[in-house]
Amino acid sequence: MKNKILRPSALLLALWVTVVAVAQKSAPLASVTTIRAGALIDGVSNSVRHNVIITVRGNTISDLADGSAFVPTNLPAGVAFIDLSQATVMPGLIDAHTHIFLQGEDPAEGGYDIQLLKYPLAFRAARATVSARRALEQGFTTLRDMETEGAGYGDVGIKMAIEGGYIPGPRLFVSTRAISTTGGYPLEGYAPEIEVPKGVQIIDGPVEARKAAREQLDHGADWIKVYMTHRSWVSTTGDLVSQPTLTVEELRAIVDETHAWGKKVACHAYSGEGMQRALDGGCDSIEHGLVLTDAQIAQMLRQGTWLCPTLSVYYTDWAPENTPAGRRDRKRASEHEVSFRKALKAGVKIAFGTDMGGIPWTQPIAQEFPRMIELGMTPMQAIQSATSRAAELLDMKGRLGAIAPGAYADIVAVADDPLSDTKILENVGFVMKDGKVFKNELASKNEAAPGR
Ligand SMILES: [Zn+2]
Repeated sequence: MKNKILRPSALLLALWVTVVAVAQKSAPLASVTTIRAGALIDGVSNSVRHNVIITVRGNTISDLADGSAFVPTNLPAGVAFIDLSQATVMPGLIDAHTHIFLQGEDPAEGGYDIQLLKYPLAFRAARATVSARRALEQGFTTLRDMETEGAGYGDVGIKMAIEGGYIPGPRLFVSTRAISTTGGYPLEGYAPEIEVPKGVQIIDGPVEARKAAREQLDHGADWIKVYMTHRSWVSTTGDLVSQPTLTVEELRAIVDETHAWGKKVACHAYSGEGMQRALDGGCDSIEHGLVLTDAQIAQMLRQGTWLCPTLSVYYTDWAPENTPAGRRDRKRASEHEVSFRKALKAGVKIAFGTDMGGIPWTQPIAQEFPRMIELGMTPMQAIQSATSRAAELLDMKGRLGAIAPGAYADIVAVADDPLSDTKILENVGFVMKDGKVFKNELASKNEAAPGR
């Protein structure tokens, strides 16, 4: 022992060698990947670029360059090359309104109620991991998930598992339990003597409202989701009406608290009084927005309120035509169409959202694109609503929804031009998330492997 202490230089040298060896082992240089894009829709610009070289370092896009003089064999050793020269490359897509804890709720399979009454949470969580994977497979690398429908803080857990690398899935912005009032959310229709679970956290009064927001934010909510209307039906005068839920005072308590935490509030709102309270109370995004008056559209423009329309979900599963439910279903779609067109024309900020989960996850998420185009968007506007615009909604401008230096390397590609037919977006053949390739059915065989 004494002998070693007398020779500090040898000890220091040994230590130094060990430190260098450990450093080399545990902190390798960020991996570098070069992607050649035949066509590039960058999510921000209105024009398409051709033959572009995208350099990815670690999980970030570091550089874009013209590819006309590019020779793959000149790449330094250790740089991975992905040849998408026959494809159209785009930023990873964003769906700003999903429910990974819902599965379409086919009435024949027990509908909504069975989810809360009979299924153990682990079963629902297992299915949510499948939903998340389905989204990623389709090129949706980010979801704003709009509440767990009775599955508590399950979305926070799924997000942890994705971020920890235990399961594949998109980046999740979660809203946990959501908030409505007594009489404002299922489960409903049971004997009053039986206490049944609710699909949201029920509050009455501004004190309870603020407390619920605090609880949800404390447990990991990235957004607070509020139901400002409940149910809808066609009135005797032929109008689509919905039942208002929270008062302006209750909503303001939630918005005030949530904004103080640096987070935002998404409000489910169909029409009428509830829609007006949503706007007067300061919601950051209106979900669905089936009936928007001109005055309400003007208020959205003044306040900078987003619209997340979720069109597709109102075109499926219509009840028979000459029933109250059938009339309601048709009226919802026809009113929605008018509101969407008016909002688009007026310049309301619109983010892509589907209400997947309300739609079975077996269906394509991209079905929303043709709907938006049918109602007046250009294909490029529709794509931007699911890229740079949705990123702006999420306060991730420049980091998500863009192929640009400094953005996360969330990159997808399709085999053809999605601007000539957005149906192609239902077949995303290449998916990279956070700099890692999750799926590649497009790249050609002449690619070089890393370390070649
Ligand atoms: Zn929803």
